[in-house]
Amino acid sequence: MAAITIRELTKVYPGGVRALDALDLDVADGEFFALLGPSGCGKTTLLRTVAGLESATSGTVALGGADVTRLPPGRRNVGMVFQDYALFPHMSVLDNIAYPLKIKKRGKADRHARAAEAADYLGLEGLGRRRPGELSGGQQQRVALARALVAEPRIFLLDEPLSNLDARLRLEARTFLKRLQKELAVTTVFVTHDQAEALALADRIAVMEKGRIRQLGTPTEVFRRPANLFVASFIGSTPMNLLPGRVEGEHVVAAGAVLPLPEEARAELPVGEEIVCGVRPEYLDYSDRPADGAFAGRVSVVEHLGGSALVTLDVEGEPLHVVVGEGREPEPGDEGWALPRPGRVLLYRDG
Ligand code: ADP
Ligand code: MG
Repeated sequence: MAAITIRELTKVYPGGVRALDALDLDVADGEFFALLGPSGCGKTTLLRTVAGLESATSGTVALGGADVTRLPPGRRNVGMVFQDYALFPHMSVLDNIAYPLKIKKRGKADRHARAAEAADYLGLEGLGRRRPGELSGGQQQRVALARALVAEPRIFLLDEPLSNLDARLRLEARTFLKRLQKELAVTTVFVTHDQAEALALADRIAVMEKGRIRQLGTPTEVFRRPANLFVASFIGSTPMNLLPGRVEGEHVVAAGAVLPLPEEARAELPVGEEIVCGVRPEYLDYSDRPADGAFAGRVSVVEHLGGSALVTLDVEGEPLHVVVGEGREPEPGDEGWALPRPGRVLLYRDG
């Protein structure tokens, strides 16, 4: 087990793409850490650089306090699961799992015993003689996990391990992964572009954009208080409402609604400042009657989500999304009001 310490890590690929840009990151020993961000933001590059499969252009990577920046992958004791699992198609399940031990020149009997043990542990009993092509996606994923685990790595790196599974299997595999990680207590960095997955699994999350970390925090912190507009628009199963507004005295006026300006924000946001108000669809209460401080509009779309509905209000020409409980859904064309819950409006400077 080991902590990961990354300092000023930069990776520029031949051709000039700056995939990592002076990135700093600390992952604690035993932590389940998620890297979240849009495609192309540098998540895979970061994992591959920690594993030693890519060399750093500059900066350092330390594992358990020891600088490994110049060490080859085989001497870092890191287990990695790739997005496509990268199993050897011509080898049996057991030989695939045993492969890292073969590289480490362990004896045949020892290799087989430990591969069989890892296979059982991951629920692959009876499948050891099959080839990867004869397994389901979920089983292939478990083989890839078993192969990464068998060498007892200090660090576990998982690159979008659930992205090739269908929705139901993904949920099952997610629960399994969480339990496995807690049982083994091995430091794990888990890459995903799926924010729901990151929120559900991780102890902490880093949200990346263009080779940098834009916010790092617990799932609750990142969800409740996105630090900037990039994170605000990226996190959330339905995107956050972002409305242009203006500071007027002790209030903010946005899309016709007069909202209180929190005291702590007053020093930072002088009167007349143009801002963006962020409020999540989950944190708006829908009503068919006017209310002080509510956004007023006309219902344009009602989408049933099962258990709730996503209602789109047209508020002064801006769409405003509101989650409305079952049985309380309005009809398109109705007049409607959406009242933000206290303390749930986030204010951002534009840009
Ligand atoms: P992510 O995993 O977040 O989708 P990647 O780390 O794969 O992002 O890629 C980050 C950036 O680096 C992208 O612009 C990508 O096109 C570029 N990139 C990735 N691998 C290479 C490579 N081997 N050579 C050149 N550019 C690369
Ligand atoms: Mg990737």
